[in-house]
Amino acid sequence: MVGWRVPRSHPRYHSLVLRERLVEAWRRGIVVPEGLIAHGRGECFDYLIGEETQEFARRAARAAAALLLLAEYPVISVNGNTAALAARDVVLLAEAVGARIEVNLFYRTEERARKIAELLRENGAKEVLGVDDATGVIPGLEHARGRVSPRGILRADVVLVALEDGDRTEALRRIGKKVIAIDLNPLSRTARAANISIVDNVVRALPEIRRHVEELRDAPREELEEILRGYSNEEVLGEALRFIAKRLTELAEKGITIRFD
Ligand code: ATP
Ligand code: MG
Repeated sequence: MVGWRVPRSHPRYHSLVLRERLVEAWRRGIVVPEGLIAHGRGECFDYLIGEETQEFARRAARAAAALLLLAEYPVISVNGNTAALAARDVVLLAEAVGARIEVNLFYRTEERARKIAELLRENGAKEVLGVDDATGVIPGLEHARGRVSPRGILRADVVLVALEDGDRTEALRRIGKKVIAIDLNPLSRTARAANISIVDNVVRALPEIRRHVEELRDAPREELEEILRGYSNEEVLGEALRFIAKRLTELAEKGITIRFD
């Protein structure tokens, strides 16, 4: 709402601020209405994991940092929601690992791609791919949702995606890309198809990866390879599901009603 400010005292202040940011970005033509719905699905899973970075996400973020540091040509794929929620964190992570940034949209229009690139540049990005140069196509994806930059995702060995559609993630895997996904839903096809899935909110996951990048920056190659050898996405997603199941059981036993007497 124009002129409405989220009151700081509200118990769900942070969540409401993210919603406001998305609605504002929708008004500016950066986020599509479908993106607002997708965020709602994410919020639900965020509630279930306690709205905090949990151990399974930390482990995945560390593996993601190792993979990004080992990558020859890493690319961070950015859509409307990610730009609206975390443009600055995208730019900082890209700088930290020497990754390209590419705008890549499921609901692609040239105008929206341009606006997202502009927002990224306002946040410090020097180069943003995927606007005028999205001339490549990911095989198996028809129409605009398959268009990518030959200097970006098409050439990448490692692609980081956030809030991505499962069909597109699977298509990236089929053409041999290593995929790091940030997705709050451990059951989504994206989370299940990716090599590394960080089950966490994108606003927390990107800074968490960066923290591990700084820790691992001077580590020898062998140490990074060792982290990846010891990583199993299957296991991490299993942990996320077990965490949610255990947390819900504990809450059910403890009682969850809010008392007013
Ligand atoms: P899939 O296509 O992978 O099976 P889906 O169709 O359920 O998943 P999409 O709308 O294609 O979902 O992708 C959006 C994904 O992003 C959802 O899994 C949602 O949980 C997740 N998501 C939404 N908001 C956030 C957020 N702020 N941080 C991280 N993940 C989020
Ligand atoms: Mg989907």
